[in-house]
Amino acid sequence: MLLEINDLKVTYGGAIALNGVSLNIERGEAVGLVGSNGAGKTSLFKAISGIVPAEGSITFDNKDLLALKAHEVPSLGLAHVPEGRRLFPRLSIEDNLLLGGSSTHVVDQSDFDRVYKLFPKLLERKTQLAGTLSGGEQQMAAIGRALMSRPEILMLDEPSLGIAPVLVEGIYKAIAQLRDEGQTILLAEQNVMECLEVCNRTYVLQTGQVVTSGPSDELAENDEIRKAFLGI
Ligand code: ATP
Repeated sequence: MLLEINDLKVTYGGAIALNGVSLNIERGEAVGLVGSNGAGKTSLFKAISGIVPAEGSITFDNKDLLALKAHEVPSLGLAHVPEGRRLFPRLSIEDNLLLGGSSTHVVDQSDFDRVYKLFPKLLERKTQLAGTLSGGEQQMAAIGRALMSRPEILMLDEPSLGIAPVLVEGIYKAIAQLRDEGQTILLAEQNVMECLEVCNRTYVLQTGQVVTSGPSDELAENDEIRKAFLGI
């Protein structure tokens, strides 16, 4: 197992955000995490990345992530694309990409080639300042920046949020392409249909707990699950 999470709890003051979440990801899997606003998706990502304290256990490639500091996590091979993207707005796309890789290894042209092949639009605009890109383009740049670190696991937090539908389609095509290349992915989404289509397995999170999980096609075909948990 590449990532193994057991009985994870995250609280903010007295408020419980995650209440005993367990989740596993094997190398090469694309795993989805669906849930509405406030279900706890971002808290789970932050706990994995060491940004918020958590109880329980998170093991990545046999290493205990909860024992590490946040700045020690990326070099292990976890890349987190946060909700809201967080690019450096006054730097070009190219410089944002460079920074994405330079903390983990010496970046070479093959790193840029991988990103530009996936998102040709970024190549066309590589000198443009990131702050002047559209939301969809920024999302591409943020995914690209994460890929520059050659991650073992790519964690995407609501990549479709606030993006025009036509660009969402392009971003999901790219995610499917990464999955087909064998990139391990953890994808959090409110957009249930997109998530089920691209992920091999999906977990459904409600008020901080996993209420059901399984192969995405089985969840999508189960009428009770569709009605009770997926809203489709
Ligand atoms: P969204 O899609 O809105 O980001 P989410 O599924 O990612 O939702 P979280 O952001 O993880 O959910 O939030 C889970 C719960 O924790 C919510 O009830 C939220 O209000 C609460 N929460 C999140 N961050 C904080 C914080 N810094 N302080 C207090 N409560 C928080």
